Amino acid sequence: MEANVILCRCGKCSKVYGIRVERMPDGDWWRTWAFKISEKSARNEGFDRNHIRGNMFETQDYPGCPYCGTHEFVQCGYCGRINCWNHEPALYCSWCGKLMDNIIVARDKFDVSANQF
Ligand SMILES: [Zn+2]
Ligand SMILES: [Zn+2]
Repeated sequence: MEANVILCRCGKCSKVYGIRVERMPDGDWWRTWAFKISEKSARNEGFDRNHIRGNMFETQDYPGCPYCGTHEFVQCGYCGRINCWNHEPALYCSWCGKLMDNIIVARDKFDVSANQF
């Protein structure tokens, strides 16, 4: 099974965590696990260079963000990276600092495409 780790930043505390994803046969992904990781280890593991394309559904036991507990996330339209989402109408991207004033509701259907990184 193809598995990958993508990085997300918590919108509440700006800390980084990894989301483990596993590829489904049809090309979409399951989010199976989320874990705290330091930026340094994430870089050492090469997680900051991972790109995936397709929707990311969560499994039943996906634990959510290890910091704020949310299961939802949004993608920044400027830098393409993902942030926790706690139903804020607008949110500053914790990666690039720009105001994401056009929040796309992630829920289950999402596309983190390579060309946006
Ligand atoms: Zn969070
Ligand atoms: Zn950004």
